[in-house]
Amino acid sequence: MERTFIAIKPDGVQRGLIAEIVSRFERKGFKLVAIKLVVPSKEFAQKHYDDLKERPFFNGLCEFLSSGPVLAMVWEGEGVIKYGRKLIGATDPQKSEPGTIRGDLAVVVGRNIIHGSDGPETAKDEINLWFKPQELV
Ligand code: ATP
Ligand code: MG
Repeated sequence: MERTFIAIKPDGVQRGLIAEIVSRFERKGFKLVAIKLVVPSKEFAQKHYDDLKERPFFNGLCEFLSSGPVLAMVWEGEGVIKYGRKLIGATDPQKSEPGTIRGDLAVVVGRNIIHGSDGPETAKDEINLWFKPQELV
């Protein structure tokens, strides 16, 4: 069954949005197969966002991701990669539709509270980066 990597970033955890965000995935009907709270190192954040290393905001983005606890999760279900991105909404919360997580709960792109894998390959890579096989149920 299809799986995706979802993470609540330090701003989402700090703002107390864990239950709100987890419940949206649960209510949709997706299945939680792994979850843990971690403070990633900056080197780890750089690995996670490796595809963005040429972008001007890369350093700030990695500093931010490693600035506090991140709730790392794996969710499973038919179409979960694409639909998970739909639940999350557009990257820039100014452009995310109301009803999406970023649309309802975030204001600026640098503090958009949640990450979701953008395709089957990145989902596989990100799950392997963040979790050991025995951490998945
Ligand atoms: P994510 O990978 O976190 O799920 P995304 O796939 O919607 O987000 P990406 O293009 O992968 O968007 O960008 C990764 C993250 O980098 C964004 O979530 C955002 O926090 C940050 N980011 C993207 N564009 C900008 C920007 N112009 N300025 C500052 N931060 C940005
Ligand atoms: Mg992305």
